Amino acid sequence: MSGRGSLVIARLRGIPIAVHWSLALSALVLGRLRFAPWAWLGLVLVVLAHELGHAALVRRNGLDVEGIELFGWGGECRHGGYATRWQLAEIAWGGVLAQALLLPVGYLVAPRLGASIPGELLASFGEPSLLMIGLNLLPIPPLDGSRAWSLVAMAWRRRRAARQRSSIARRGAALAKQRERDMRAVHELERDKVSERGEPSAVVLEGEVAEQVRRAIKRAVDEHEPRR
Ligand SMILES: [Zn+2]
Repeated sequence: MSGRGSLVIARLRGIPIAVHWSLALSALVLGRLRFAPWAWLGLVLVVLAHELGHAALVRRNGLDVEGIELFGWGGECRHGGYATRWQLAEIAWGGVLAQALLLPVGYLVAPRLGASIPGELLASFGEPSLLMIGLNLLPIPPLDGSRAWSLVAMAWRRRRAARQRSSIARRGAALAKQRERDMRAVHELERDKVSERGEPSAVVLEGEVAEQVRRAIKRAVDEHEPRR
């Protein structure tokens, strides 16, 4: 990908990196019109890291990175496919997170290197980058903040829905247990009733046997006593 006024200068893991002419202009402005080529390069690297952070989240979400373009006012990471609001918010955070990972280099490593070339270059990873993060997180389109913060609201809603689901599941389990207890109680009651009935029915059975015996005796007597 290279738009009008842009030139593809490299490919990183298959991702074309293009640079727009306005980058040179902004380097001049951000460098407070001083000739500070290493500080400028540092800023370009911060923007590149930011866009690579977006690219990493694009790929993590299973989408294709079409290309990265660096402008004077920032960068752009274009991706193909359909991204959900959640995915867009995650991708928005990718840029900020990549910059955040470089902050310790700018704040802790760069000062130790003093006024050397690497010191000047890495200093851009500190305060200038933090300033960029702060501005970029304002909830104003097209800044990343306009999409990034919705992740917090969506995560909160997801958490609330998950909590409601688990509370319903807990209540369901409690009801099932209660039903099991009730059924056991009913079975016990029925068993007790059967055993209550069991005693009279044994008497009935005894009575039946006695009746059969009586009939058998009567038959035997009838057979032995000729009818008149
Ligand atoms: Zn961004």
